Amino acid sequence: MKILVIEDEKMLADSIKSMLERKGFQVECAYDGESGRDFAMLGIYDLLILDVMLPKMDGFEVAEQLRLNRCNTPILMLTARSDLKDRIAGLNAGADYYLAKPFDSGELFASINALLRRQAGHVNEMAFGNTVLELGTSTLLCDGRSVRLSAREFDVMRLLLQSGKRNLSKAAILSRVWGLDSNAVENHAEVYVAMLRKKLSGIGSNVRIVASRGLGYHLEVKAV
Ligand code: CA
Repeated sequence: MKILVIEDEKMLADSIKSMLERKGFQVECAYDGESGRDFAMLGIYDLLILDVMLPKMDGFEVAEQLRLNRCNTPILMLTARSDLKDRIAGLNAGADYYLAKPFDSGELFASINALLRRQAGHVNEMAFGNTVLELGTSTLLCDGRSVRLSAREFDVMRLLLQSGKRNLSKAAILSRVWGLDSNAVENHAEVYVAMLRKKLSGIGSNVRIVASRGLGYHLEVKAV
């Protein structure tokens, strides 16, 4: 899961980042409204944490512009001001959830979980062929057999299941799982796909991760 934190108070942004990273999220920060909006428009994040008071463009405007541009990533809005008028303005601008500063890590995680659950539409598993990925436990299941995935394996598997029979490029996997500013190279995607193939065959799955030259990967059901 990738989260973008848009917050100009660098210390707070960094502390949110490290709190979330300890929970296994991948986190990137933007320190003003404009670059936050531009990052968010890339569409590679599962959730945005958006401060209201920001230089260049405030959080309300960021949310509004994202929604106008059909960017539907869930937004958790942060503000020092908790009065009702601001909350209504934020929700009207397109925020999904509100958290008043100061907050503790427990409140932050509870809000994030609520949003991600809502985003998933209460889906807690994804299926392909004879195989199910349980989202809550990062487990692949097939005919009574199961295997746990690491955080990165899970992210790659989830993306593959989302695109199913459509090709998913290595570049898309890298930017969504490792982030734009990482040093990950295409080889990372190949290594994780190889590990997933091993785990899939280990539980007797009929799901194949098929590589198409230049196009990336897609899933197929293996004929028995
Ligand atoms: Ca601020």
